[in-house]
Amino acid sequence: MFKKERPIPPELVKLRILNYRTKLTEKEKLQLSNKEKGYAGELEFDCLIRDLDTLVINELLLEFGETFFQIDTLIIFYGRIYLIDIKYYEGEYCYEDGLFKTIAGSEKKDPMLQLNRCHSELRQLLQKYRYNYPIDAFLVFNNPQFTLYQPSPNPQIILPTQVNSFIKKLYKMPSKLSDVHHKLADLLVSLHKTENPYVRLPKYDYDTVVKGITCGSCHSFDVSVSRTKIACKDCGCEERMEAAVLRHVEELLKLFPDIKITTNLVFEWCKVVTPKKKIRKILLKHFILKGHGKYSYFVDDSKNPI
Ligand SMILES: [Zn+2]
Repeated sequence: MFKKERPIPPELVKLRILNYRTKLTEKEKLQLSNKEKGYAGELEFDCLIRDLDTLVINELLLEFGETFFQIDTLIIFYGRIYLIDIKYYEGEYCYEDGLFKTIAGSEKKDPMLQLNRCHSELRQLLQKYRYNYPIDAFLVFNNPQFTLYQPSPNPQIILPTQVNSFIKKLYKMPSKLSDVHHKLADLLVSLHKTENPYVRLPKYDYDTVVKGITCGSCHSFDVSVSRTKIACKDCGCEERMEAAVLRHVEELLKLFPDIKITTNLVFEWCKVVTPKKKIRKILLKHFILKGHGKYSYFVDDSKNPI
């Protein structure tokens, strides 16, 4: 059972928007592409373990001491916790003199060091809350196009050809859970942080990002707008005007979480949607209006979410 589903990582959400609203550098484009691959690899792994009869927590960002650590997948079995880091690396890699390298010889950040650090921080965090479960940590490489040459097999490293047998083993693990296990899962989910302050994103601000309504499917700015809908001239996708405006408000909030949503702001962000009255009507339907006159703004209405 998935106690916590895997969200699209917030940095990936932002990078996707910035990709069509700013000009990303080649390095930033590579960052986006790596994030997309990593996320796809995690979703692939999720499919394999979705039917486990135990507690699975996906994508946990935790803080211990002054540091943040991220867990791709955490599985609570009876008397044991599995900490799994999923790497969707492609190509040939090797461990040489204890260093993690591409086959061409360039040294890369060793994912095993990252896993061990995470393992140690999770253990300390759980001890703080008086949980003393043994934790086993694994590095799963699940891209079939990945090979790793290592001096001797490491039981913590699961290579693409070993993924199936690893999954079979997971399904055979004792999964009889009690309230204590559920409480532990609740605790970990409650400790989850939504945003990692150390993630580096391209610099952007409201003035420099390109405004305008875009297609919800291919993100083209080349859309025709009628009274009730928008239609993409590139891919043919159509969307109701109300849904399109709300999608753009969501986009604004993802890029600028502290921005005050006003009719004028959304009008400026969407550019081609007229009249303003229509935007105001949509915002009034889905948000709560706070303040008065020119100082009024809209806040999220959880009873009637976007
Ligand atoms: Zn389109």
